[in-house]
Amino acid sequence: MAAVTTVAAAAIVQLGAPVLRVPAAEVTDLQSDDTRKDIAVMRASLAETQGVGLAAPQIGISKRIIIVASRPTARYPNAPLMSPTVMLNPSYQPCSESKEKGWEGCLSVPSIRALVPRYLDIDIRYYSEQGELVTANLQGFVARVFQHEYDHLEGMVYLDRVEDNRDIVAESEYFRQQM
Ligand code: ZN
Repeated sequence: MAAVTTVAAAAIVQLGAPVLRVPAAEVTDLQSDDTRKDIAVMRASLAETQGVGLAAPQIGISKRIIIVASRPTARYPNAPLMSPTVMLNPSYQPCSESKEKGWEGCLSVPSIRALVPRYLDIDIRYYSEQGELVTANLQGFVARVFQHEYDHLEGMVYLDRVEDNRDIVAESEYFRQQM
């Protein structure tokens, strides 16, 4: 029988940790054991949350790896369902300048939601876990999740993009008022 390897989830790094505020490093060894292990820990960590995405710096790994995993959860009941997608060295280009404000939260910024302007329509590029270059077009909520996770690779958090402090609310109010 093959040995079953279980990967333990890592703790989610919280706002104030320096790793969330520095640009993450390019992944140069896309298919190395190290990279595979980092991805496995990210998957395990995201699976334990109600999040719809995760960036490697959020578990203390300062590398350019994100998972976009839009799915309806208690945190995001209206999120579209997609299979979790691992993206290495991702980048994007807006297809138009138009942005829309939408609600976001972050596992690294607990108990808060805020309205964040994001591009509605973006072309993205990334390397898959298999080392293949992938291009895709993302729109709406999934494009929002991608931009949120991408920002983590630049040392930014979503609160940095909030235009007005009045756009920040307690998560309890967000759910109470069904914003
Ligand atoms: Zn986040």
